[in-house]
Amino acid sequence: MSHPLQSSAPAAEWIRSLPKAEVHVHLEGCVPAVTIGFDDPSRAGVALDPTTGAPSFSGLADFLDYLDRSCALVTEGDQLQSIAHALTERAARDGVLHTDVIFNPTHWPAWRDDLGTFVAHLDAGLAAGEADFGVTAALCLSLTRTQPPADSVALVDWLLDARPERIVALSVDGNEAAAGPTGERFAPLFARARTAGLRTCAHAGESSGPDGVREAIELLGAERIDHGIRSVEDPLLVATLARTGVPLDVCPTSNVRLGVAPSIAAHPVERLRRAGVRVSVNTDDPLLFGTTMTAEYDVCAQSFDWDHGVLAQIARTSIESCFAAPERVSELLALLDDALAPS
Ligand SMILES: [Zn+2]
Repeated sequence: MSHPLQSSAPAAEWIRSLPKAEVHVHLEGCVPAVTIGFDDPSRAGVALDPTTGAPSFSGLADFLDYLDRSCALVTEGDQLQSIAHALTERAARDGVLHTDVIFNPTHWPAWRDDLGTFVAHLDAGLAAGEADFGVTAALCLSLTRTQPPADSVALVDWLLDARPERIVALSVDGNEAAAGPTGERFAPLFARARTAGLRTCAHAGESSGPDGVREAIELLGAERIDHGIRSVEDPLLVATLARTGVPLDVCPTSNVRLGVAPSIAAHPVERLRRAGVRVSVNTDDPLLFGTTMTAEYDVCAQSFDWDHGVLAQIARTSIESCFAAPERVSELLALLDDALAPS
């Protein structure tokens, strides 16, 4: 264990310049406070961090309350376009060249009956961001584990009927501990999505244990597990993940802030990585946690003494596991190789 001042961890500037993808970030965690007037603490209803401007939360209930209140204030197309454009700008600042953005329609009440327009505004903002910053972006539509089953079916019906080009994947999130096992219920919906050519990912192994991860892989056919860190509790599952290469998109700061991991130093990402599990590092909800991709890579590098080689492998996994078109994935891998080549 090295003292932080003696750490050989790569500098933040090097991390920032590393071509990478972000594969676990929620639109709901990308709403700038200024877009909804929450830069005024009396309107935000919570204290704001003086450095990052991020809201402070006493726990999960507080966090979810803020998230719902903030998203409910997004009622105009201009706001959606600016949220989408701003997230590509932030991505570019962190060397993120592609981002898979998860959105959950249940959090956006103003758009519940007009999802097509909602997605069209996001598409416009993301297209403008790609033109301005060279960052590509895809959307993953997420179902909620605790929503009435008919609502999940209606969302998948809409998705497969409308098939907006920007949405490339079906996802599921929500409190697994509260919902209990839901794999059997969601399996037919994921099968339909896969048949229609969509990619799949699922939140699991955060509020659920290893069984949740197994369900996501075996019943939902998830190509990628959002979080998945509690897999570490089951050595057999860890061995399976290492053997099959199903990647985990891990969000260290989020896990600590929401009490899933006691600290970064004790975070399971390092045990999983050392066991041969493919992991990427992500922000989850960057503006709610006051974090960035550079900060996430940096805090792991400091805590686990990750050197250039380990960070480059994390970046490679992020690109390999993203849902960009295959030619874009190849392009990003080539950019990563160029960045790592001795000059
Ligand atoms: Zn998440």
